[in-house]
Amino acid sequence: MIEHLARIGRFSTVAIITIATTVVSVALTAIAATILTNFTGPVNFGWAIAFAYVVPVVVTPMISWPLVGLLLQVHQSEEKMRDLASHDSLTGLLSRHAFLENGNSYISLAKRDQNLFSVLIIDLDHFKSINDKYGHPAGDAVLKLFADVVNSVSRNSDIIGRLGGEEFALVLPSTSSDEAVEFSHRLHQAIAKAVLKYKSNMIKYTVSIGLTSYHFDSDDTLDSLLADADIALYQAKNGGRNRTAVFGDHEEQSLAG
Ligand code: GH3
Ligand code: MG
Ligand code: MG
Repeated sequence: MIEHLARIGRFSTVAIITIATTVVSVALTAIAATILTNFTGPVNFGWAIAFAYVVPVVVTPMISWPLVGLLLQVHQSEEKMRDLASHDSLTGLLSRHAFLENGNSYISLAKRDQNLFSVLIIDLDHFKSINDKYGHPAGDAVLKLFADVVNSVSRNSDIIGRLGGEEFALVLPSTSSDEAVEFSHRLHQAIAKAVLKYKSNMIKYTVSIGLTSYHFDSDDTLDSLLADADIALYQAKNGGRNRTAVFGDHEEQSLAG
């Protein structure tokens, strides 16, 4: 209801309330005047209707304008608070909690519809040394740039969250393992191209990716898939970083550049 009011705006809402109260006022006055005429003799119908029309037209906007304004302000604050709770303030990506919530909802649907999807965990390589060398604000700028790059190579339907620190996770709906590997390849390439200009420094960074895919005949949950992707991530790190490892594959794939 309040979403609908927010969509049509304060002016239109007040106009609708004014029209509605005027119609009701005129209708009730007409009924009352008719009843009174029948029981107590003729009443001044014209004056009664004019009064019933003018009063709500003048009074309703005076009362409803500030009230509707207040209601819309409360609605905006609620939306802002919801957004703050579900999105990471630095990168604008989903918070851990919202990622798990959205991921689990998608997975219930995917299981019902027997859809394939893939899950990735991405960790920035040697991120501590970026902080140490260029400072924490530079590290923050790298995280923001990473979020922009990952958004630019993703589809709108992809679910992207910051699990914490410099670790991120993605659910790629309707995406097979091969397609997810291609996605990783594009991401590694895009990251290599997007060098951060920070003050007088050109900051390069790389990521390691652990990847796993859901098959509709398995009992996997988001938690178990994230655990598998984490094992693959560990393999990618051990294999030399700047690469993607697929859970269950023995050889991780170097997808750099
Ligand atoms: P590895 O390749 O093994 O992942 O090494 P790493 O240095 O990336 O990993 P490590 O866990 O040693 O360090 C992670 C660093 O990320 C340490 C922490 O200070 C930094 N970090 C976590 N969150 C933030 C953040 O929001 N901003 C910045 N600038 N740094 C962060
Ligand atoms: Mg790291
Ligand atoms: Mg980490």
